[in-house]
Amino acid sequence: DSVVHWFKCDLRTEDNHALHLASQKAKGEKVPLIAMYIVSPQDFEAHLTAPVRVDFILRTLEVLKEDLAKLDIPLYVETVENRKKIPARILELLQEWGARHVYVNEEYEVDELRRETVLVRACLDKGIAMEVVSDTCIVRSGELQTGSGNQYAVYTPWYRSWVAHVHSNPECLELYDSPTKNPASARKKYADIFKSPIPDTPPNKSLTNEEKGRFRSMWPAGEHEAREQLAKFAKERINNYDVSRNIPGEVGTSSLSVHFASGTLSARSAVRTARDSNTTKKLDGGNQGIQTWISEIAWRDFYKHVMANWPFVCMNKPFKPEYANIEWEYDKENFQAWCEGRTGYPIVDAAMRQLNHCGWMHNRCRMITASFLAKHLLIDWRMGERYFMEHLVDGDMASNNGGWGWSASTGVDPQPYFRIFNPLLQSEKFDSEGNYIRKWVPELKTIKGKAIHEPYASGDVKELAKIGYPKRIVEHKFARERCLQRYKEGIGK
Ligand code: FAD
Repeated sequence: DSVVHWFKCDLRTEDNHALHLASQKAKGEKVPLIAMYIVSPQDFEAHLTAPVRVDFILRTLEVLKEDLAKLDIPLYVETVENRKKIPARILELLQEWGARHVYVNEEYEVDELRRETVLVRACLDKGIAMEVVSDTCIVRSGELQTGSGNQYAVYTPWYRSWVAHVHSNPECLELYDSPTKNPASARKKYADIFKSPIPDTPPNKSLTNEEKGRFRSMWPAGEHEAREQLAKFAKERINNYDVSRNIPGEVGTSSLSVHFASGTLSARSAVRTARDSNTTKKLDGGNQGIQTWISEIAWRDFYKHVMANWPFVCMNKPFKPEYANIEWEYDKENFQAWCEGRTGYPIVDAAMRQLNHCGWMHNRCRMITASFLAKHLLIDWRMGERYFMEHLVDGDMASNNGGWGWSASTGVDPQPYFRIFNPLLQSEKFDSEGNYIRKWVPELKTIKGKAIHEPYASGDVKELAKIGYPKRIVEHKFARERCLQRYKEGIGK
């Protein structure tokens, strides 16, 4: 007999709700706990998972396997090529291991929900109890409702209700103990699993050696790394977060998104740490930097709640139906220029190059580049959403979709359609010294002063052409007017 924990986006031992319950159950039943993870190349394909993210997951599994082995808990990792066969394969494994109980943390994406439903039923038929529990969000989706009993579609009142809920339900921030040690006999019994390797990267998500090395040093994997980074951020930077979070040329944010996306850090632990550093020992009040940071993590919960309640947002539909009628341009050259960071707008180009190099982009720049694609180039926001997903180490369906919907004004509680970021003003305001631009667009390094934001306007045109920096692919004034008109026509204003 055994108890099984199925790892998905919760790749940690500490503060893992389902794993904690699985361990307790195993202890109570005096049977070993077995952990498993299924690598699904088809899922990676269908969900546009970036190779850098797959690499991070596989490296994290190595760390996890080692940590679990110290507790005599075997971690079994298998690649299942056909994703439709995953539930059946899991069932086979559960039977092979004589499992009576399997534990998982709930995910809100449609495919995952459907798969879990299939597995719950299949387990039931075989007399195996499958327990699906809430873990990824601080507040479980469905808990917060408007006065009329609906899901909130506006962040601010939702956030007020989120804070109140957490304050009156302290278990939302409970720390779940790490699993306890398996009986020593598990070592022998599951020797094959202990010896089995973590599978290689699926061919559809492979990286070059150069990329592997680069990402390995940029994104050290595993929960220890996440906890260290959180502690450092809470000690050194969180107090100033409200001010520094908007400056892409500085390290003002936590860079923890990769850990939230893979579950190497629980959102609970992050908020608990931040709350405990606050003078009020609450989520609100007290230190402004701490409050703001917590409210950003709340955005993550918000978008997950939105996705759970309106699953059509996962299916390429705008949250607001009237925005489905906007006539987009499908200019391939402009799209390519945006992807490669060759738009002639230095702040946009710097940001896209940061994404291509690191698999990560600063939040301010995600907003600038997304707005630029949807509003200046008038290119379907879904193409940008897809490109981000394919390149982000922290790619998260709900947050990415929410961020694109906000920027393109098609989403839930978005930026109004007539607010069109002026990339030049954004650049002057948030990268005033041009440090970020100079780092990511090195050919502009020698441009002095304010000209960095708009090199062709005041720089040496011949010199710029020689360096190879492109001219603007679209003029701001023209783009703004075209956008307003096209949006108005589309949404029938
Ligand atoms: P910090 O500023 O330190 O914030 C802490 C945490 O709060 C983040 O790690 C993240 O989990 C959460 N958070 C912060 N801002 C947001 C936000 N606006 N929406 C939701 N959660 C937030 N975030 C992702 O995790 N995955 C994505 O795929 C993603 N795509 C985005 C696409 C667009 C167009 C936009 C505008 C935003 C997107 N975001 C996404 C949100 C945000 O940009 C990142 O979470 C943030 O930049 C990550 O850096 P950090 O960890 O240093 O954040």
